[in-house]
Amino acid sequence: MTTLRTSFLLPTSLTCLMTHPAEMIRLLQDIVGTEHVLTAEAASAYCTDWRGRYSGQALAVVLPGDTQQVSDVVKWCAAHHIAIVPQGGNTSLCGGSVPVPDVQQVVINLSRMNRIISVDAGNHTMTVQAGCALATVREAAKSVECLFPLGLTAIAEHCEIGGNISTNAGGIGVLRYGNMRDLVLGLEVVLPDGRIWNGLRSLRKDNTGYDLKHVFIGAEGTLGIVTAAVLKLFPQPQATVTAIVALGNATSAARMLEAVRKNCGNTLSGFELISRDCLELVFKHIPETSEPFDKKHRWYLLIQLTDVLKSPLQETLLDTITSFTAPDFDYRITADAETAERWWKLRRNISEAQKREGLSIKHDVSVPVSQIAQFLLHADGVLQNNYPDVRILAFGHMGDGNIHYNVSMPDGAANKQFIAEQENTVNKLVYEVVRELGGSISAEHGLGQLKRDTIRDYKSALELELMRDIKRAFDPHGLMNPGKVL
Ligand SMILES: Cc1cc2nc3c(=O)[nH]c(=O)nc-3n(C[C@H](O)[C@H](O)[C@H](O)COP(=O)(O)OP(=O)(O)OC[C@H]3O[C@@H](n4cnc5c(N)ncnc54)[C@H](O)[C@@H]3O)c2cc1C
Repeated sequence: MTTLRTSFLLPTSLTCLMTHPAEMIRLLQDIVGTEHVLTAEAASAYCTDWRGRYSGQALAVVLPGDTQQVSDVVKWCAAHHIAIVPQGGNTSLCGGSVPVPDVQQVVINLSRMNRIISVDAGNHTMTVQAGCALATVREAAKSVECLFPLGLTAIAEHCEIGGNISTNAGGIGVLRYGNMRDLVLGLEVVLPDGRIWNGLRSLRKDNTGYDLKHVFIGAEGTLGIVTAAVLKLFPQPQATVTAIVALGNATSAARMLEAVRKNCGNTLSGFELISRDCLELVFKHIPETSEPFDKKHRWYLLIQLTDVLKSPLQETLLDTITSFTAPDFDYRITADAETAERWWKLRRNISEAQKREGLSIKHDVSVPVSQIAQFLLHADGVLQNNYPDVRILAFGHMGDGNIHYNVSMPDGAANKQFIAEQENTVNKLVYEVVRELGGSISAEHGLGQLKRDTIRDYKSALELELMRDIKRAFDPHGLMNPGKVL
């Protein structure tokens, strides 16, 4: 397994080896119960990331049952100068949720704290423990005829609300409902010294000074452990229509986005871009998937409109699409859930198909929505000039300017060498295009270990200094998730 981490410095107190690990584990067991402290083989799955790219060792993986236990474990770690890795579903795509090598760490996994605490239908809010799976929250919302719109559908059964909050997760639907930051009203957080901050407010207006919850949202576990949250709920849509559109170039895709936005307004709730190469990989690795059109096309769009009114969405979308002209253009539209699901299956399984195919150099970038076609054109051109055989898998949430742009060689052996030798150069080529277009090198996955060093080249010295000041203010001893973000 390759660990592509560059070195970093921790306070010396954190690197010291503890003399009596068995005694330490016994003390942790006293807090959470023997069966909730995992070590050795039982801990290993929690110490390796979803892609199998990063792994480290932990003194133990601890699974607390409530906020007080989280606080007690954190106090214990602080007293012993042991670093902490907060963990939810461990689906991070940037090595954020696993221990780094050569540091004494305890993983605090929140998965046992998976209770829906309360639902306030009148206030359109739900209060949940941080270990609730996203799928559980979505189901609970549905059971009271509401919607919790965070759309990480490929992974909703595995990822957890605490992880979603800590990565400020996005996914499908951001263009309509915003990302996780827009969906949280209040938080409960265990601070790095073990104190519990109860900010579980369910207010839509609260201008009483600094809005502290936002410091923890997207902090990737470097400032504290989220233990509970108040989430916003929305009315459940009554009407849905989905279109799959085939196009010859990305510029037409950008024009289509403009047209749909203009004609369909706020009913637009999904606008996803898929390249032909992505579809080929899905057909190769995922059973029961099939071509949506008779003929192959260079690009595909999945467009979804939803409305809480039983409005004639199909007509509006059909009007928009039929009045559109572009080279190599085709489309299908449906209001039938099963047909739509077949199309969404193609989009949802791209990550899984890539995982089965093997490693690639991954980029989760964003540019202004108006610059997406430029990005694809420039980045493809630069890479193809440098590596004529390169395979580029581009797909993503085009509606919010977020493209997953993954680069590899089609041949397995050549790919291994390509990644080992060219990863830094490829990153630089892609990120320079992103920079020129005013974009970000991490749209929704965060920095974790993967982009911790790279970000220094893409944020100003002042911005980085302010981030370090915040880190020092909350976590002066650098105990929370060392080796990530900063
Ligand atoms: C197939 C696949 C598809 C994906 N699709 C998307 C997508 O569409 N959009 C998107 O945004 N992401 C996506 N992701 C990335 C990932 O699922 C998200 O980042 C998710 O929010 C992580 O949740 P988790 O519970 O697994 O967190 P983890 O992976 O366990 O942790 C992620 C980060 O949050 C921290 N953390 C976790 N829980 C807490 C807590 N309670 N308190 C403080 N810090 C905590 C960890 O330390 C780590 O830094 C995808 C991942 C996969 C594997």
